[in-house]
Amino acid sequence: MAQVTCSFCGRNKKDVDLMVSGISAHICNFCIDQAFQILGEEEKTKKTKTSQKFKLKKPKELNQYLDQYVIGQQDAKKVLTVAVYNHYKRLQQKPDADEIKIEKSNIIMVGETGTGKTYLAKTLAKTLEVPFCIADATVLTEAGYVGEDVESILTRLLQAADYNVEAAERGIVYIDEIDKIARKSDNPSITRDVSGEGVQQALLKLLEGTVVNVPPQGGRKHPDQKMIAVNTENILFICGGAFDGISRHIARRLNTQPLGFAKQEEKAHADRDNLLQYVTAQDLKSFGLIPELIGRLPVVTHLDPLDKDALKSILTEPKNALTKQYKKLMEMEDVSLVFDESGIDYIVEKAMEYNLGARGLRSICEAIVTDAMYELPSLEGKKELVIDAKYASAQFDKSKFKKLQVA
Ligand code: ADP
Repeated sequence: MAQVTCSFCGRNKKDVDLMVSGISAHICNFCIDQAFQILGEEEKTKKTKTSQKFKLKKPKELNQYLDQYVIGQQDAKKVLTVAVYNHYKRLQQKPDADEIKIEKSNIIMVGETGTGKTYLAKTLAKTLEVPFCIADATVLTEAGYVGEDVESILTRLLQAADYNVEAAERGIVYIDEIDKIARKSDNPSITRDVSGEGVQQALLKLLEGTVVNVPPQGGRKHPDQKMIAVNTENILFICGGAFDGISRHIARRLNTQPLGFAKQEEKAHADRDNLLQYVTAQDLKSFGLIPELIGRLPVVTHLDPLDKDALKSILTEPKNALTKQYKKLMEMEDVSLVFDESGIDYIVEKAMEYNLGARGLRSICEAIVTDAMYELPSLEGKKELVIDAKYASAQFDKSKFKKLQVA
């Protein structure tokens, strides 16, 4: 009988661990391994190629996607989606095509805590095919102080871009809690010291566009660390903050504005419960942001406070709404979980009462369902749990929330 050899490398059957035979050929385990690796690499290059020619999503398309997750906040959604769309277009603009150079429009979002600023940015990031990172302004300090230099933001972006500098230079950065670096003197409620202004100064160059030497692993710069040069000219910055107390500045401005037809009308219709919607650069200045920083964040938008209806929708409507998540979890235990309307109303009432916004919904729900989640998996057979106001309040009263209130 003829010797069986691998048709690819010629190895003899006795020299290999495995030989697979086809109709008129054989392949050994070494060649299978090699072919498998080639396939993997081929797949990888295909993926990079497709991600390079990303599809430009129109603002409305982006908005529709956001709507699946984030309730309300239409103004902020519109402003963000337009900015991101323009950011893409700007990146695609051919240099020297004509005289007009589109400038980037960094954004600032003002809204109470827990109204969805970070969530909006995160959800947007999911749809984007540019590197994206979230940074916290509170940890930033002026160079030379204890804390992180502003360059650390770019370290994060580089990491998000897998250290592809070119990709990072077209990325988007969300800076949270920008209000916490406001100047103290103009705002008594800010507890931070004067270094807040120093951080604002340090951010200026970054926002406008400059080449920064970034320590690739983050941390303090030291002389023998290799730096990566990143140009921030094409990076879009979105800043967000609660700006506690800014309503006072807005109210004062609205009342003291020189009379004029349009202004008079605005004044007459001003919605006193939601003054944030009138926020302008001028109010940010009164709050303690330096004019140079405001100048580099030309697009100002706001997030609405969440009322009962909004909280109710957040609890039930989004694709991954909390109630849907609990139902899914219970389903895995053969428990059919029903949130009765009265139970939902109770949870929303409590979130309003404790002034916790959307962030509180989760902890209130946990307080209510934990007992059931502990007991039910041990019971045999199909089970049903209805969370109505009675059940919810009995569970809630047993929880640590109640103790919180007593304290
Ligand atoms: P902040 O405005 O303080 O950045 P977050 O975005 O962190 O608030 O919101 C906290 C959580 O509350 C989010 O993770 C999200 O689950 C929920 N949430 C807040 N606002 C909304 C909203 N408008 N729609 C859906 N969920 C929301």
